Amino acid sequence: DNVQARGALQQLKAYSPGKPIWEVQREFGLTTVVKLASNENPLGPSPRALEAIASAMSDLHRYPDAQTIDLRKSIAGKFDLPAEQIIVTNGGDELITLVSEAFLEEGDEVIVPGPSFSEYEFAGKLMCARIITIPLSANYEYDVEAMLDAVSERTKIMFLCSPNNPTGTILRKAQLQRLLDALPKRILVVLDTAYSHYVTADDYTDGIEYVKAGYPLLCLRTFSKAYGLAGIRVGYGIAPESIIRSIVQVKEPFNVNALAQVAAAAAILDDQHVEASSRLVQEERQRLYGLLRQLGIPYTESMSNFILIKPGASAERLCRQLMESGVIVRFGGGWGLPDHIRITVGLPEENDMLMDKLRELH
Ligand code: PMP
Repeated sequence: DNVQARGALQQLKAYSPGKPIWEVQREFGLTTVVKLASNENPLGPSPRALEAIASAMSDLHRYPDAQTIDLRKSIAGKFDLPAEQIIVTNGGDELITLVSEAFLEEGDEVIVPGPSFSEYEFAGKLMCARIITIPLSANYEYDVEAMLDAVSERTKIMFLCSPNNPTGTILRKAQLQRLLDALPKRILVVLDTAYSHYVTADDYTDGIEYVKAGYPLLCLRTFSKAYGLAGIRVGYGIAPESIIRSIVQVKEPFNVNALAQVAAAAAILDDQHVEASSRLVQEERQRLYGLLRQLGIPYTESMSNFILIKPGASAERLCRQLMESGVIVRFGGGWGLPDHIRITVGLPEENDMLMDKLRELH
């Protein structure tokens, strides 16, 4: 046929999610498969969310609340902010796309640290923006001065990810402060804190205090990680009201389904689940460092629920072999890190299985 898609699509490639457990079971004839590839919560969903979903089932013939009022109020209460400063989306992924749709025109520039979450680049390219990638420095630290040097008249958005996926490193509070003070106020800074619950650093900030201070900052958060609700797709953004209004303008009315809204509103009150999840990750991450050192596999210390390890030139083969033996992890090639693998911190027994296989195969 002669139907031509937009030219911009030729440069686009969405990230490919880790293979699901059932697919690996079927492909390799395995019963026990452990997935440590998508930074999910191994403790499962918040039990409170499950109860809320069960009680909302009878209303599924109704459209969901287009304004997600109850959920926004719950979130607003948590952060002591007005609900007008919050937008709820179909996962954090949707928020990244909506931000780009709301603020970018062809030829605009977007500053993105690299390697990082590929959605920023995807969303920017979708809007025909130019992606200016600023490499992280030696230990995967943010090179704040290089990011400032990259600013031009056409810069519209700067994406920051803290803790950064896939490196697990953070943007320090003083670094965010420096950026926000030095950047022209017409530039939107997006601070993606999807993994903030796993941080144990005194010099970390999730950015909310800077939103409250009125900077042009959008903080992205999600229910997919510490709350254990990746499957139900709820993310949200916190920003000054005018920024939220612009993003709301481009969203579909029913972007967050009814079950997702009640599940998230219940989960945000479930501090116990979040604490259990953070504690598990912090303890297991520490234990994994010890095992990796025993195996002689270099790694980057992480503030998140994943660890970037560097097995070397065999990384891609190792990923395949791990998958064949029932452990799904993420090869670093997609981030331009072909010597690396990103492993999600799982349950103790899942981590043990990964380490046993690594010991055999490495
Ligand atoms: N930001 C980062 C850094 C992520 O790693 C992810 C999940 N892969 C997201 C945002 C979005 O997650 P979700 O769409 O599930 O909320």
